[in-house]
Amino acid sequence: AETFELYLPDEAAVAALARRLAPLLEQGGVIHLHGDLGAGKTTFARALIGALGVSGRIKSPTYALIESYRIPGLAIHHLDLYRIADPGELEWLGLDELQAESSLVLVEWPERGGEALPAADLRLSLAHAEPGRRLQAQACSPRGEAWLAGISA
Ligand code: ADP
Ligand code: MG
Repeated sequence: AETFELYLPDEAAVAALARRLAPLLEQGGVIHLHGDLGAGKTTFARALIGALGVSGRIKSPTYALIESYRIPGLAIHHLDLYRIADPGELEWLGLDELQAESSLVLVEWPERGGEALPAADLRLSLAHAEPGRRLQAQACSPRGEAWLAGISA
């Protein structure tokens, strides 16, 4: 399937989804996380990074713009572009290097990144649906389609 919808009633549901998705990401790729403030983007990214095997505190990159992690065979980059005023500010981040085959790039507020931002394999949109969140997923590449097939199976 190219799209997928799921109600996430609580953070446990986010963690369960992250555990299903994580094993599919060993080749890396790019996930864009859309949604308003408080929609659950960081919660999802944190759950995914944890499910990939990163232990310890996973900080929100709200102030640093980027937080990076390394697990065997994979570099993980978590970006939050909320605070950038101009996509030109991304130049110093070396986004080209983030696109290496063996990296997973998770981007909050991708709409602020402009042309320099690596294109998404998977677009996730989160929205408030009290008491939880509604997730819509859209595959944007064959890799993203494979991930969706894996999590919706
Ligand atoms: P964002 O990064 O989109 O601004 P956060 O991930 O920081 O949002 O989440 C904001 C709040 O929403 C947090 O307090 C978090 O616990 C809560 N939250 C996230 N996902 C869910 C969910 N599926 N169900 C209920 N609460 C959630
Ligand atoms: Mg956030």
